[in-house]
Parts: sequence; structure tokens; C-alpha cells
Amino acid sequence: MAETDATAELAAQLVAGDRRALARAITLIESTRADHRRQAESLSSTLLEHTGKSLRLGISGVPGVGKSTFIEAFGLHLIEAGHRVAVLAVDPSSPRTGGSILGDKTRMEELSRHTDAFIRPSPSGGTLGGVARRTREAMLCVEAAGFDVVLIETVGVGQSETAVAGLTDMFVLLLTPAGGDDLQGIKKGIVELADLIVVNKADGDLIPAAERARRDYAAALHLLRSPEGAWLPKVMKCSAMSGEGIADVWSSVEEFRTVAKASGIITRRRAEQAAAWMWDEITETLIAELKHDQRVQSEIERLESEVRDGTISPSQAARLILQQFTPHRINDGTKTSVL
Ligand code: GDP
Repeated sequence: MAETDATAELAAQLVAGDRRALARAITLIESTRADHRRQAESLSSTLLEHTGKSLRLGISGVPGVGKSTFIEAFGLHLIEAGHRVAVLAVDPSSPRTGGSILGDKTRMEELSRHTDAFIRPSPSGGTLGGVARRTREAMLCVEAAGFDVVLIETVGVGQSETAVAGLTDMFVLLLTPAGGDDLQGIKKGIVELADLIVVNKADGDLIPAAERARRDYAAALHLLRSPEGAWLPKVMKCSAMSGEGIADVWSSVEEFRTVAKASGIITRRRAEQAAAWMWDEITETLIAELKHDQRVQSEIERLESEVRDGTISPSQAARLILQQFTPHRINDGTKTSVL
């Protein structure tokens, strides 16, 4: 079968809700082989008209805060309310540690068995930008397959939150009842991304600490963050283990969706994300082409070693390489040089 026919058939099966087609499509998207990339691009554009209808939710928090326990409880609650839930992950640490988040089969055991849930571990390998790009395409696939809530989990290490916030409509940050002490370790930038903060593990002996933490975070949030128009970020508490407060978290998410749709927050975020995506694609594609361009290979090696030795400045070397790569376009600082 011709490549385009095969891709069209895969797209049709996926849109019809075939789970194996969905898994195959995501495997295709995660591949770095040039012919697979081409097929993945054609798949993505075929699927485009079926995408965009889900609620895209980023969920973050440090390891051990209870992300997988929360997603299991939250996901099952959503399914009970009639939703179909996809769980994806962005984990830039997975290539080094070998084990990715969501990779452990014992996590989210009940949710992963459910027919209305689809769980996919983080693609491994490559840069954070590359992982985010593949997750974005996987998100379009699950949307086309009819999942109406997409949860994107990330581990709280800094850069990955920004990447996930760049993919989603709403960003939820899970924190522990450790309270004020914990606040020291959380970067201001991450709190600024949060539309909703949830203090998890509010159960048993931890209930008073969780309530104190909730109040501390609420106070800190107002100092750290100016609200984005119509939505004032909320702080709540829950127990992912007992299920207490999970329904309230979903109510707050729905409230955000209503406010954010009416006030244009979601439309604006998606527009900015689409533009940023275009620039990511341009950057990734140009750099890949530059690195594979035979004409500049030896020049890149020579200039890189000169940069390392300190005999040429990085910006000067970059300009020389770019001039050779696209000689008719790169401005040399004084005039546009033409071959
Ligand atoms: P993750 O690393 O953020 O995904 O965290 P996990 O979901 O794996 O949870 C880490 C640990 O915290 C596990 O031992 C969980 O049983 C525990 N845990 C998760 N949620 C809760 C909760 O709501 N209450 C309590 N007491 N423990 C929890």
C-alpha cells in the first residue's frame, strides 16, 4: 500500500476509535526516522479537523507529591461523570534514569484497565523540546480518537512545567502539606503558571497541616501572582488516597473552563501556543537541516573547536556558519551579503 493510503487508513481507524490504531499512530509520531516523520506530519494534518475539542490539563508536582495517585482517582471520577480521559506525560529525565513517569505498569492500575481511559508514558530520548513536540502531536491523536479530557503529567523540575503549560489550557500544581517549608523550594515561575493549586494528602493526621498549607499558599499566591484577567487562581486541598475533595477539584476545573472560555483566556492561550509551535517547528527543522548539511559540516567542526579554544567568539562563529548555510539571506551585520 502506498505510504499516503496507509496514513489515511490509520487516520480513519483512529478517528473511528480503534485503540490499536491510536497506539500505532503515537508510535509513528515518536519515531525519529525521516520517513516516519513524513508520515507523522501527513497524519497530523489529516487529523487536524478532529482535534481541539478536549480540555487540556497540565498536572505537575515534585516526585512523591502523589501525581499518579491523584490522576488515578481524578481520572476515574471523570469517567464516572461520562468523560473519556487520556493521560500523557512529559518527562525530560527519562532518557537518563531509564524509567519514565507513567512507565511503571503498577501506577494507575485501575485507570489503565478502563476502556474510557488511554495512558501513554513519556516518549524517551531527545531534548525537552523534542519530547514536548511529540507529546503535542500525541495530544492531537487522542483528541481525534474522541478523548475529551487530556491530562498531561510532568515531574516538577522546572523547565518541563513551562513546556507543559505551553501545551495545555489549564495548569494544576500539586503540593504537599509540608506548607511554608515547601514554598521555599518552589520556583516563583512555576507558581505563576498555576491556575489551580491543590494541596494533596489532606487525610488522617495531615489534615491540620494541609489546611495550614492551603492558607499559606493562598496568601503567597496573592503576593506572587497577579491574576490573569477574569480568573483568580485557587488553592484547595484533597486526598488522592481517600478521594476526599477530588470532586471539588473537578468542579473548580469546570469553573475555570467556563470563565476561561467566556473571557477568551483559552482562545488566547491556544493562539499563542499555535504561534509558538510554528516557531518551534521552524527552529527544530532549521537546526536539523543545518546539522545535516554536508556543505557546512567541516566548517561547523572547525569553528566549534575554535570557539572552545577561545580563538573566536561564539556569535562570530555562529554568523560564519549561518552565512555559509544560507549565504544569500544572512545579514553580516553591516549589509546583506549576496553570493
Ligand atoms: P508521584 O511521584 O507524584 O506520582 O506520587 P505517587 O502517586 O507515586 O505517591 C507517592 C506516595 O504518596 C505513595 O506512597 C502514595 O501512596 C502516597 N500518597 C499519594 N497520595 C496520597 C494521599 O492523598 N494521602 C496520603 N496519605 N498519601 C498519598
